[in-house]
Amino acid sequence: MDLKINVGNLPKEGSSHEFYLKEEDVAVKEVVSDTFVNFEICKNGNSYDVKGFMDYKLSLICSRCLKEITRHKRKEFSLEVREKVDCAVTGKSNRKTGEAENVYIVGNSCLDLGPFLRDEIILSIALKPLCSEECKGLCSVCGANLNESACEHVKLKEESLT
Ligand SMILES: [Zn+2]
Ligand SMILES: [Zn+2]
Repeated sequence: MDLKINVGNLPKEGSSHEFYLKEEDVAVKEVVSDTFVNFEICKNGNSYDVKGFMDYKLSLICSRCLKEITRHKRKEFSLEVREKVDCAVTGKSNRKTGEAENVYIVGNSCLDLGPFLRDEIILSIALKPLCSEECKGLCSVCGANLNESACEHVKLKEESLT
């Protein structure tokens, strides 16, 4: 996935950008829609401040009851990209966690936000998604979805507790 912005002639007041990234370009299996990206870039000395948000739809599986959940996600992001003049990199980044170096300047004037945005999307996907905080999950004996009905095993358990 790439999203290259030419920052060579960036106006003083900065510039704003809008993109639609195709589902197949994002290529994250949980993302089931195109991703709308909206952001602003401002030059600040030798660095660029990028600030904006992404909109996309996620399809997840509840980690308790295994039901499919569709979530609309709006992810805000901001980062600072330092200028690196002789970093003519394609497809490779000097990655250090927590630093903005996973975004780099290709050549002298082109910013590729693709890898950073893709990471942001992946980070926005919960490891253990829940259809709701109160999800009762599945019965460990018969596998019934306890959100829909209480099976006899649960009733027995409740009786033995009282
Ligand atoms: Zn659930
Ligand atoms: Zn049961």
